[in-house]
Amino acid sequence: MTALRHASATDVGLVRANNQDRLLEADPLFAVADGMGGHAAGEVASAAAVEALAREFSERTPDGLAAAVRAANRAVWDQAQGNVELRGMGTTLVALALVGEPGAETLAVANVGDSRLYLLRQGELVQVTADHSLVAELVAEGQIDALEAETHPQRHVLTRALGVDPDVAVDLLTMGLNHGDRYLLCSDGLSREVGDDQLASVLRRLADPAEAARELVREAKAGGGSDNITVVVVDVVDDGDTSAMAAAALVGDHGGNVPSEGEEGVGKGGEEPTEPLGTEHAGARQGWRARRRSRRQAQPTARLLTVRLVGFFLLLVAILAVGAGGIAYYARESYFVGLDGSTVTIYQGRPGGVLWFRPTIAQRSGVTTAGILPVHLGELRSGKVEPTLVAAQGYVRRLHQEYLGAQAATQAPPVPTTPVPATTVAPSTVTPRTVTPRTVTPVTPPATAIAPATKTPSTTAPVGAG
Ligand code: MN
Repeated sequence: MTALRHASATDVGLVRANNQDRLLEADPLFAVADGMGGHAAGEVASAAAVEALAREFSERTPDGLAAAVRAANRAVWDQAQGNVELRGMGTTLVALALVGEPGAETLAVANVGDSRLYLLRQGELVQVTADHSLVAELVAEGQIDALEAETHPQRHVLTRALGVDPDVAVDLLTMGLNHGDRYLLCSDGLSREVGDDQLASVLRRLADPAEAARELVREAKAGGGSDNITVVVVDVVDDGDTSAMAAAALVGDHGGNVPSEGEEGVGKGGEEPTEPLGTEHAGARQGWRARRRSRRQAQPTARLLTVRLVGFFLLLVAILAVGAGGIAYYARESYFVGLDGSTVTIYQGRPGGVLWFRPTIAQRSGVTTAGILPVHLGELRSGKVEPTLVAAQGYVRRLHQEYLGAQAATQAPPVPTTPVPATTVAPSTVTPRTVTPRTVTPVTPPATAIAPATKTPSTTAPVGAG
């Protein structure tokens, strides 16, 4: 069975007069809400959200969690509509819940706003949730970098919050259960004052969740404490068979050829190389790739897209479609003449193909390699590109007629009635069909040959070709 070990801490900080953060620590449901609004409205919003979340979370599934968050949104909205002093109040909400049937449990994550969920897995800290804030979007769009985001004048502006609209889009993710994982839910009062490296350091160092939570609050205050600070630490300490199976699968995949892990934090500020949770990491001896993959598995399985994201996605699709169309056009809108076995064949496409566009046979000519001059074979093997099908057909016809012309010259040498120098005879009789004089000159008959010139006019022979 899965067991969660958890602890929390919250503090008003060093600057604010009241604490508008609210946390929920009600195994299997955990949450942090950071309220905003004039006077006491922020406190009302975060409290209303957390209470409604706890009340509405009955179906223990990811969708059940998302529904509870939407219900919380509605609760805050309704309350704001009913009281002029509370108009415009709102709150962030990040929630983590153990869901699913026993033995097949996962962790569901729901998020609205810029409170965060972090995951420490095998010594590596990742931010699981995406902030719904203006600066996060600017960073995502590449307009500013992470450093500029920290000092941006609008860094507190949220693009999504609970209670400001009757409906809200909820980011929903599910995370696989892993023995040894440590989750951190926090308000921005922590994440703004304490950098990710420092967060990771504390979470690795202090195995006891209560100690870790207290230390994080202490460090946020040491960093300035300019906002309320709220922290919930949740450790996955026992998940029965699922982690053993997952670990076995990963170890099997990598054949045990994996660098040691778990000493990652060593050397940073002289920390002790302790195992963070005082427990053996079942799947800890994994390589970099395994870690990447487990991180990928931790990515959202379902996510409600914002309009902006959908727009971006559509744009991306359009760009890809135009690009693919261009490639397809290049790949398909031409022909070449090649050989299919010994048959001279016209293909549509590019010789050798372009990406996944393979050439297709457009037309088999009735001509085989026996019906063309060997000098052209090399060209046909590599593919003679022609812009259109008609041009390709013309090329095949010319090749064959050239061959027939040469044949006619060989078998029925055209001989004028009176002997003339070979050099003048050949061109005048054969050139209409012949491209290369070279094929003609060798077959010039000796002057003594007698052949009735009228019987086999060389000009008629090739006409039947094609
Ligand atoms: Mn805050």
